[in-house]
Amino acid sequence: MSKLAIHGGAAVGALNVPAWPIFGKRELELVADVVSSGNWGFLGPKEQEFEASFARFCGTGYGVAVANGTVSLKLALEALGIGPGDEVIVPGLTWQATATAVLDVNAVPVLVDVEPDTYTIDPRAIEAAVTTRTRAIIPVHLYGRIADMDAIMRLADRYRLHVVEDCAHQHGSEWKGRPVGSIGSVGSFSFQSSKIINAGEGGFLTTNSQGLADLLQSLKMCGRDARAGAPVMHSGNYRMTEFQAAILIAQLDRLETQNAERDRNALELERALSELPGLRPLYRSPNITKQSYYCLTVRYDREAWDGIPKEAFMAALVAELEGTLNCSNVYEPLNASPFYNPRNKNTHKLSDAYWRAIDPSRFELPVSERAFAEEAINFSHTMLLLGAADRRRLADAANKIFEHRHELREAAQTRRSQREPLSEVV
Ligand SMILES: *Cc1c(COP(=O)(O)O)cnc(C)c1O
Repeated sequence: MSKLAIHGGAAVGALNVPAWPIFGKRELELVADVVSSGNWGFLGPKEQEFEASFARFCGTGYGVAVANGTVSLKLALEALGIGPGDEVIVPGLTWQATATAVLDVNAVPVLVDVEPDTYTIDPRAIEAAVTTRTRAIIPVHLYGRIADMDAIMRLADRYRLHVVEDCAHQHGSEWKGRPVGSIGSVGSFSFQSSKIINAGEGGFLTTNSQGLADLLQSLKMCGRDARAGAPVMHSGNYRMTEFQAAILIAQLDRLETQNAERDRNALELERALSELPGLRPLYRSPNITKQSYYCLTVRYDREAWDGIPKEAFMAALVAELEGTLNCSNVYEPLNASPFYNPRNKNTHKLSDAYWRAIDPSRFELPVSERAFAEEAINFSHTMLLLGAADRRRLADAANKIFEHRHELREAAQTRRSQREPLSEVV
């Protein structure tokens, strides 16, 4: 008789997942303020207030709110003077926006691999990819680990490169007491609806350089000077609305408490899950003094699970928790991602040499590929705000599946033997 829920056995039970996003009266009041003020955009008071408070939260002197976390990266590169003929090093394991921003300034994204124990950009791979044309690195603080900022800043120093931190996943993380977004030349954030602080859409740039901050303000506002005066350069419109800023002011008040709770729960969940031989947490550097999470990533060791693929384990886990578990794979590496096809777009046909240089398939990313195909499992940040009983239930479900893993193995074998004669017919 089957024990696993995925084969018709009794499930461990549903999780009580908190509704997301979490909001209250304050969000409603601040949005109502905006509506009744009639001042709905263009450097309104809410946007200016949020720029000041989010910059303070990130420990930077300046902050620039923008439309989303893709254009924020593009504007950071433009402000740093990066353009045609330049190369920018980005990790191969990230959301496509990190590399797309490089294409958007007509530079070449150079994809490099990630570290096997943190899944963040590998400093040795960065160094191996540096050429005379390299101008910048975009480390991504991916899921629930900060990239190794000591090693990255050392390389930036040695090769005179700019560093743009992509912090879309990690509002509030700190490396040796320094908030992410305050370590490189510029930090870039996203407030898109899946992120841990969101206004549906939105983006942000942090910097300690007044010159860069002024330039970013101009780039965001059709080339007007930083005080919204006369045009001083050519640019387009990348502004945020007052509605977004209002929501973000209220959401920012909730962020630190939520971050602390997510980290406590992540540590507990890592401990509980890693009692199983086949689930390992990522390495956590002692330089991480605060860790915030877009996802909690664990490493699945297929061998310890008798060869059962991670997808089968994930499906069984979802079934034990009656469909309430929010878990997923990591990003498909950019050298073969269906979301990253720079040669599908005519505006990228700048020259034959450029066309060849932006071909993603020329980059080898074995660690990213293994993470995607075999190893990595992401638990959404909403799973890090579960109560104690639900956290226990999640770990119990994983334990139960491990105990009855022979069922998954046998099911996989049956599927294989049923397929074989079919393939002979075809
Ligand atoms: C979400 C995200 C972005 C882009 O942000 P949007 O606001 O969605 O444009 C950039 N980088 C990473 C790593 C992201 O996850």
